[in-house]
Amino acid sequence: MEKYYPYPCECCGGCCLHVDLIEEMKVFDRGDGVCKNLTEKNLCKIYANRPKFCDGKYFYENFFSDMTVTEFHNMMKSLCKKIKEREHLI
Ligand code: SF4
Ligand code: SF4
Repeated sequence: MEKYYPYPCECCGGCCLHVDLIEEMKVFDRGDGVCKNLTEKNLCKIYANRPKFCDGKYFYENFFSDMTVTEFHNMMKSLCKKIKEREHLI
């Protein structure tokens, strides 16, 4: 497995808008589906202690370690694009 390096997240906030759809993340729903840890600048208030569902390194090491990190990040990019389109962020 390749050593993980961070995904170049553009901080659009898109993946933090519907925590109500994930059972283990519902505890963070501020009432409208948006994560209560998301700041106005689309940063995560608990980044250092964020849940594994929000941690690319966790997903890479546990589920996608047969890929290179670049391949994993490219897959993430295409997911981000879909999220941004769905949320009208692009
Ligand atoms: S959708 Fe992608 S670019 Fe936007 S905040 Fe999430 S990981 Fe970052
Ligand atoms: S915990 Fe942080 S990274 Fe995870 S959904 Fe909430 S704001 Fe986003």
